[in-house]
Amino acid sequence: MHVLLIGSGGREHALAWKLSQSPRLTKLYAAPGNPGMAEHAECLALDITDHAAIIAFCKEKAIDFVVVGPEAPLVAGLADDLRAEGLKVFGPSKAAAQLEGSKGFTKDLCARYNIPTGAYRRFDNAGEARAYIGEIGAPIVIKADGLAAGKGVTVARTHDEAIAAVEDCFAGTFGAAGAEVVIEEFLVGEEASFFCLSDGKNALPLATAQDHKAVGDGDTGPNTGGMGAYSPAPVMDETMIARTMAEIIEPTIRGMAEMGHPFSGVLFAGLMITEKGPELIEYNVRFGDPECQVLMMRLQGDLLDMLEAAADGTLDEASASWSDDTALTVVMATKGYPGSYKKGSEIKALPENSVAARTFHAGTAMKDGKLVANGGRVLNATALGHNVTEAQTSAYELIEDIDWPEGFCRRDIGWRAVAREEG
Ligand code: ATP
Repeated sequence: MHVLLIGSGGREHALAWKLSQSPRLTKLYAAPGNPGMAEHAECLALDITDHAAIIAFCKEKAIDFVVVGPEAPLVAGLADDLRAEGLKVFGPSKAAAQLEGSKGFTKDLCARYNIPTGAYRRFDNAGEARAYIGEIGAPIVIKADGLAAGKGVTVARTHDEAIAAVEDCFAGTFGAAGAEVVIEEFLVGEEASFFCLSDGKNALPLATAQDHKAVGDGDTGPNTGGMGAYSPAPVMDETMIARTMAEIIEPTIRGMAEMGHPFSGVLFAGLMITEKGPELIEYNVRFGDPECQVLMMRLQGDLLDMLEAAADGTLDEASASWSDDTALTVVMATKGYPGSYKKGSEIKALPENSVAARTFHAGTAMKDGKLVANGGRVLNATALGHNVTEAQTSAYELIEDIDWPEGFCRRDIGWRAVAREEG
């Protein structure tokens, strides 16, 4: 089977590594890919916003299956354009990708299908939004409706902070993504991520994870795309998983089908585990990055079979099996990230990969025969252990063997789960 994987992050490196283990794979291409992915795939200098170029490539190389990693091409309708040409695709349609592309859309779906989530209202002007904040009071959460690379959300502790966030949105800080604002109830609890596959009718639960968004130790400092993650999430026991499936995932899949937008792809639910149980914070329509890296370390089945079953509508016949071990990943980023940083510093040495420990590439590039940093988040040191404490120790051993003076990482990934283990 000839497969084209779209994307170039640590998430896609993990997917490429896992797809390459499938006996059914004969050739893997990646667009644009990265130097780590080049070990498993032929990387292509294709512009992924140029749908016509991707379609032409698929036809020329007789691609059997396209797997889309990131959200932006999904929200831009890449899956629709490929399907219209008769190609098989893993990833939702543009209409179904609204679950990530519009926070208001998802909140309306929750209201319509009785899915537990914080109370909310949608606004298209600052005046009414300000009045609502006055009515509800702080803490309160202000969100730009559209995609804003994780920066469009303000958890406002005070009334003034909430008003400032609304004004920011309507002043155009997030461009079109902020033309509408969702204001929601502040939920209290522990956050967890839940992943499942859907083929439009059926949902297959995958696994759980927790991530660290803040750049600094102790979850301090500005938010990033994610500085580390581990799987499974201890807070997601069997009861919580069963409730999430019954109360959140299944009504979503049913609702999307009823509304004429059947969802096929990965559904990634950002949850708050409150006193009442799981409540939905947000949906993403693709694997998380870096959550995907820890999921792939634990996955024991054939990823290609699973993704294809989601695309074919045969997920009811598919299954997923997972290692009981914990996987933990530590992100190494370029100094300065998530603020401004320099590209091009040399990564002088990387540790050897093994079954239980490997380094995924994210923002790396080859320049004059040398591996260099080419982005904010650059490497993901990922390890398995019998528990989170062991996985953490092994991941930081990998970090010790990375020779990249311009890089930094958090030193406490998994701290909450480690503290739980220490009792
Ligand atoms: P991501 O970077 O995960 O894609 P996003 O920009 O799509 O984020 P959300 O996940 O909706 O935004 O919110 C970001 C973070 O803000 C959440 O991980 C959570 O910590 C916090 N948050 C969002 N909504 C709420 C809420 N209703 N109550 C409490 N905290 C919230």
